Amino acid sequence: QGANKGDASAIPTTRFEEIGGQEHAKNELKEALDFLLHQDRMLEYGIRPIKGILLAGPPGTGKTLMAKAAAHYTDSVFVSASGSEFVEMYVGVGAQRVRGLFQDARKAAKKNEKKSAIIFIDEIDVIGGKREGGQQREYDQTLNQLLTEMDGIRVDEEVRILVMAATNRKEMLDPALLRPGRFDRHILVDLPDKQARLQILSLHARNKPLSPEVSLEQVAQDTFGFSGAQLESLTNEAAIYALREGKKQLEPAHFQAAIDKVMMGEKTDREASH
Ligand code: ATP
Repeated sequence: QGANKGDASAIPTTRFEEIGGQEHAKNELKEALDFLLHQDRMLEYGIRPIKGILLAGPPGTGKTLMAKAAAHYTDSVFVSASGSEFVEMYVGVGAQRVRGLFQDARKAAKKNEKKSAIIFIDEIDVIGGKREGGQQREYDQTLNQLLTEMDGIRVDEEVRILVMAATNRKEMLDPALLRPGRFDRHILVDLPDKQARLQILSLHARNKPLSPEVSLEQVAQDTFGFSGAQLESLTNEAAIYALREGKKQLEPAHFQAAIDKVMMGEKTDREASH
């Protein structure tokens, strides 16, 4: 049993254009991916191939979207797992799942006749946290297996493997993961600024009937500190309010109520976790 949910996933349809803002992150990522696309050239120049890319930043900022867009951009199959899926009671199961993930990626690429595969590991900090003072942890083996798999990636393999990982606690990661040849490319995926919030709002409002009175510009102004996921949720909530009131269009009041709701939701989430 592999830990991935990805064997049927093949190539994601997510494109970079569907990710609002994150211009800097997208450019950096595309540049790194060009290594994958033009590998022969890189090798000619003796450039060390990229094996791992770390996406770091707060929750809900689009890291998963970026990894999927990366697979689409490079015509790679996409196989994913979350760090928490590797935490098991029985020693060795996590390591076995890591091995399975890499095997699944190679298999899926062959099956789909693709030359490359992107393995995405969300919440890498769960298995890749700092190993302190020789203290044995049950998932040391899992992390070691991941390092072994990454060290074993060859550029001349039939299926070229790129590992992408996401974390919102980069400072917690074991330095072994960040060494050259492992996750040595770091891309910051931060909270959106006002312009980026406007872009994200526009993307998610595209399929919704907006009253001409709605100013997404104003909504962007009023949502300082919101993540992309919260902005998506807010446009959805606004539509639900409009529907409930039997209105044909989303009005400014619906957006206001939705902003309050998403903010309150955050607050109760925080209270619940403390
Ligand atoms: P987490 O760290 O919580 O796993 P993440 O950074 O991986 O989050 P995603 O899962 O990519 O975030 O984003 C969740 C959802 O939020 C997306 O499916 C999308 O609807 C919306 N979203 C997040 N960021 C953006 C963005 N930059 N542009 C458009 N939509 C976004």
